[in-house]
Amino acid sequence: MAVESVLLLTVDALRADHCGFAGSDRGTTPFLDSLAAEALVFESAFAVGPGTPSSFAALFSSRYPLEFGGYEGFSAARPSLPEHLHRRGVTTAGVHSNPYLSRHYGYDRGFDHFEDSFEEADEPGLLDRVKTEAGALLSRNETAYRLGRRLFLAVFDEEKPYVDATETTDRVLDRLSDAPDRSFCWAHYLDVHEPYLPPGEHLDRELSPGRVEALNDRVQADDPDLGEGDLADLEALYDGELRYVDAELRRLFEELEARGRLEDTAVVITADHGEEFLDHGRLGHHPRLYDELLHVPFLVWLPPGARDELDAPASGRVSGQVSLLDLAPTVTDLLGIDPAPRFGGRSVLRESGHPVVSEVSNPHGVLKVDERFRRRSVRSEGWKLVVGPDGEELYDLEADPDELEDLREARPDRAAELRTTLAEERGVDPDAV
Ligand SMILES: [Zn+2]
Repeated sequence: MAVESVLLLTVDALRADHCGFAGSDRGTTPFLDSLAAEALVFESAFAVGPGTPSSFAALFSSRYPLEFGGYEGFSAARPSLPEHLHRRGVTTAGVHSNPYLSRHYGYDRGFDHFEDSFEEADEPGLLDRVKTEAGALLSRNETAYRLGRRLFLAVFDEEKPYVDATETTDRVLDRLSDAPDRSFCWAHYLDVHEPYLPPGEHLDRELSPGRVEALNDRVQADDPDLGEGDLADLEALYDGELRYVDAELRRLFEELEARGRLEDTAVVITADHGEEFLDHGRLGHHPRLYDELLHVPFLVWLPPGARDELDAPASGRVSGQVSLLDLAPTVTDLLGIDPAPRFGGRSVLRESGHPVVSEVSNPHGVLKVDERFRRRSVRSEGWKLVVGPDGEELYDLEADPDELEDLREARPDRAAELRTTLAEERGVDPDAV
């Protein structure tokens, strides 16, 4: 089984349970729901980390970022999906505008074409240099992060600090208009990430610009004292961004279909991590490992002509756990290419239902690894153990899917089993997990 090309679409900060096909009744994803009806839907897919750097460094390498020093750059020592494909004759393209994934941090490796909203010119203009410096500031520490973020917002002249979904879709369409038959294209949509500023037609309620700004300020401040009405409005803004992205993905599909570009192209859709709305007392995505931050949508859509050739089901629901560590080997599997020898994951087309490990070790907004923030989690057979700086937490995911009742004291036996599983899966000493 193989297709000629793969289109990988990632949405920043999209938690699974806000998508219709994953159970939401908010009417957020009519297009993705229709796609899900004819795709393979992995209902239990989890990110390796709860933020862009801790997730993408794993997604593109199929290895844990902390095996290679962390998040400060996509170092050459790591396996790279785009590079692996490029070496096997697949033309590779990446389109995004997340500063953490810019060429500044090495994420352009292996891409024949890389569009990160930072100019490619040998002599970048002043604005471009300021953008790069602002992006670099994000990595240093919390104070520099705040300064860098403000600077970053200021140097983008539009109200959003990134390329919006309409422009992203246009760029992907441009890129694919003359792409060769054998290609891998990755596009990343940032709209669902805060600040939540959905186009009005995608918002299900009237909110004044002042109200929208005030709500976004409270996300920035990570304000735990939001009233119920505030929280509902905030989630409505997030859902509005999701409706907008869904509409743009529909436009992308329809246009590619009209051009005949989907006849031999598989499409993989996922998110780098989720988003918290006070599920555990915070807003946004902080370095913690609860499911609102790790559970992501994951769809694999195959062109009708390729479905019969697949020696596995080509559509339907898969409930077994998978990790985004498995994404790179899934892409190579779809293309009929051997995975890179050092990929750590396994193709989700072949295997699911294994223990899933996630981890993080940097403060919010900072790329430098700091042991004081190190957390690791393992979920296996309906249970989840989190090992963090304040000790361990244990959750029975069947009885308590929201992870609210810590059973660490009540079930030391289960915690010990999971600690062993974590050590085996992660290849670390059980005393050092
Ligand atoms: Zn992200």
